[in-house]
Amino acid sequence: MADNHHKVLIIGSGPAGWTAAIYAARANLSPLVIQGTQPGGQLTITTDVENFPGFPEGIMGPELMEKFQAQAERFGTRVVYDTVNEVDLSKRPFRIMADEGVYTADTLIVATGASAKWIGLESEQKLMGHGVSSCATCDGAFFRGKEVIVVGGGDTAMEEANFLTRFCSKVVVVHRRDSLRASKIMQERAFANPKIEFIWDSAIEEIIGAKETGVTSVKLKNLKTGEVKGFATQGVFVAIGHKPNTDIFEGKLELHPNGYLKVTPGGVSTNVKGVFGCGDVMDHHYRQAITAAGTGCMAAMDAEKFLEAEEAALATSV
Ligand code: NAP
Repeated sequence: MADNHHKVLIIGSGPAGWTAAIYAARANLSPLVIQGTQPGGQLTITTDVENFPGFPEGIMGPELMEKFQAQAERFGTRVVYDTVNEVDLSKRPFRIMADEGVYTADTLIVATGASAKWIGLESEQKLMGHGVSSCATCDGAFFRGKEVIVVGGGDTAMEEANFLTRFCSKVVVVHRRDSLRASKIMQERAFANPKIEFIWDSAIEEIIGAKETGVTSVKLKNLKTGEVKGFATQGVFVAIGHKPNTDIFEGKLELHPNGYLKVTPGGVSTNVKGVFGCGDVMDHHYRQAITAAGTGCMAAMDAEKFLEAEEAALATSV
């Protein structure tokens, strides 16, 4: 399928994928972006983005991603709405098997991102971006002076809870057990914060609110006694972990024990030559749009250098 062969193929269309595409396209490499199951990535499920430089008034997440895409397409990026199911990275060209067919590529940029884990409630889905969030850094400032809940007992939950006390009048951590999973230092910080309270052995059964009013309360179930009661709150931050989107790379690329893609320290090369990783799929620490965009740029530049070195080697061998 000569038509489906690409010098640079990018899987994923969040800030990392589009930035890689902008750089690869401007290097005349005509990259192909396979958008994946959540075109635009995690920013499409948030509302205002106020921390992306260059937008002093803030910008809506979906609009920001449209701008990324338009910029990538302006320089000749091709985009397909397709979902990758399997990859063969054992030899080059790499083979990418998707719903719509098979693509081949000289270099592959993995920008498949990570997905926040959700509790799994219908009301949670309905109110996402309207009082329900999984990112305090992104959305905390919208809850100034309000009382909010953070769900989870790990480091992320403690970090989110502490961060939210900068804005919120009260932060209530709801955890399903009676002890935290978070590291000692994060626990101590949270316990010492006078704005943070804990509700133990409890789970949210339903989030109550509307798109117009935001969240107004939750139904909390005590998992030990079974008692369910209403609890007034104005926001719910779900912090029960993230899952990197690496399922299709298991056994094909080296992964960390937590599932994140392994890349060279300070770089973006994977253990397979010609395959690069960028954005949240390889970053479990910063997880910001701007850092994802930065590593997307690195991946494209390294792919370009890789192809150039290969062409130079080929030229000297003939
Ligand atoms: P995590 O350590 O896996 O903790 C997830 C928490 O959410 C646990 O307390 C878990 O409860 C709870 N949980 C999971 N599924 C749930 C569900 N369906 N309903 C209710 N609660 C649920 O995840 P994380 O906090 O995102 O941390 C991930 C990794 O990043 C960790 O290695 C962490 O140390 C690291 N991290 C470090 C920092 C830092 O050092 N600054 C900051 C953030 C993250 P159980 O405890 O009952 O399992």
